[in-house]
Amino acid sequence: MSRAVVLGGGYAGLLAAVALRDHVDEVMVIERDRYPDLPEQRLGVPQSRHCHLMVESCMRALEALMPGTIECLLSAGARRIDLTNNALISAPMGWFERFDLGTSVISCSRALVDHVMRENAGIEIRQETTADRLFGDKQRVGGVVLNRGDGTTEKLDAALVVDATGRNSKAPDWLSTLGVPAARASVVSSGMASSSRRYAASNGLYDVLPAILLQPQDSASANGRGATVYPIENEEFIVTLTGPKSDPPPVTEDGFLQYARSVGPEIVADLMAASPPVGLVNGYRNLSNIWRHYDEATFPRGFLALGDAFVAVEPTHSLGMASAALGARWLSENLPSVGLDGNLQAGIAEAATAFWDVTRMQQTAQDKKPEKPSSSLSSLERRISQQIALATLRSKELAKDFFQTRAHPGEGSALTTQERLKLAMKVRKPPLSTLEAMAQFPELEKWVAEFGVFECKIESTS
Ligand SMILES: Cc1cc2nc3c(=O)[nH]c(=O)nc-3n(C[C@H](O)[C@H](O)[C@H](O)COP(=O)(O)OP(=O)(O)OC[C@H]3O[C@@H](n4cnc5c(N)ncnc54)[C@H](O)[C@@H]3O)c2cc1C
Repeated sequence: MSRAVVLGGGYAGLLAAVALRDHVDEVMVIERDRYPDLPEQRLGVPQSRHCHLMVESCMRALEALMPGTIECLLSAGARRIDLTNNALISAPMGWFERFDLGTSVISCSRALVDHVMRENAGIEIRQETTADRLFGDKQRVGGVVLNRGDGTTEKLDAALVVDATGRNSKAPDWLSTLGVPAARASVVSSGMASSSRRYAASNGLYDVLPAILLQPQDSASANGRGATVYPIENEEFIVTLTGPKSDPPPVTEDGFLQYARSVGPEIVADLMAASPPVGLVNGYRNLSNIWRHYDEATFPRGFLALGDAFVAVEPTHSLGMASAALGARWLSENLPSVGLDGNLQAGIAEAATAFWDVTRMQQTAQDKKPEKPSSSLSSLERRISQQIALATLRSKELAKDFFQTRAHPGEGSALTTQERLKLAMKVRKPPLSTLEAMAQFPELEKWVAEFGVFECKIESTS
């Protein structure tokens, strides 16, 4: 009998189990936590205190593996945010115009994502059971030793062990005790830190609240701070403030609000000040990209890693769940031809590469082995890309291409640089001022005038 054991019953663990179940006789998922009955935060997924967005490539892969999940999420209160129609966005070069681009993201709490997936997956999970170590030798992993909730241990044989225990996976240590040479790890720090808090969108705010993204500005005087607001289920919204690691957004009541005020436009701080908070401010400081290169070495058969345990991408681009879902979809589609003993990790690595490339851009390489330096842009190329970036704020075609390229890493732009430049040269309108950008959302302005303390202090770079 072939048995696969998946370690970790989080997002990637569930997807791995779904991908495997038609190809093995038995799949067992092992989870350290006891799941809450309702969609609530739990210890094993500390990042779930922060907003989790699903980009389109994630939705597609998820639907391929677990049809109906997106509909269930929406019925449970997740919000579909059409870009840029439902989003007030200040990019480094200015404000985006409000367009109907036919592309969207799903916004909800991470706890809701996991809860809905558990209900839809129909997978039996052994809760309150901890994976303690692997057994086998350096040629083949034979299974896993579990710590049961009652303190006893159990040895479980497996044809395949999948590590889905997340960013802090202990698998490198477990493998080294089997005599397996250590896998190289690439760590690329984002240099960023974030803090988040949920608020009740009361007094009708929920009905008029778009997503709000205030990205750090490009100007020399900019402080590198940014803020986002995303409406989520239960008529709440979640605010995330980001900044350099050397100047992290505080987790104190006053500090959090003051930091929001310093971002630039004060709309986010004003919404926070006018809304009842739900819970405390939570900080997240470990925003690095980590790739454990199990795909490179001759790794023992019977072992595979998926999700953050394999490639963890920092959250600014909201791509971690997409990367795991595409890896799981690859597994489900290719397992019959590659086989349980084949090089499955290489295929999952291929699926993760585009996500890794996007998120590590412009970040500090800390990898001991230096990567190949990217060729520097000529000043003409720089001017062209600046002109395109500026025009993207006011051109529907360019904005559509911009957001779709980001939602589908690796698929490339639908337009050539020449086509984008041609479109950019047609744009005659200057970037919107802050007042003009706000005026695109008259319902929000009306709400702020009635319930908030809105002052427009900083004009956009125009
Ligand atoms: C601040 C922040 C914000 C983010 N925002 C986004 C976003 O907007 N969009 C997006 O796509 N991605 C986002 N991500 C990334 C996303 O959270 C991860 O990519 C995703 O959680 C990976 O899922 P996973 O199952 O691999 O790991 P996890 O979700 O961390 O799950 C690991 C599971 O393993 C269990 N476990 C751990 N050790 C053991 C053990 N020894 N035995 C048994 N069980 C164990 C844990 O309890 C947990 O259930 C964000 C990440 C962070 C840090």
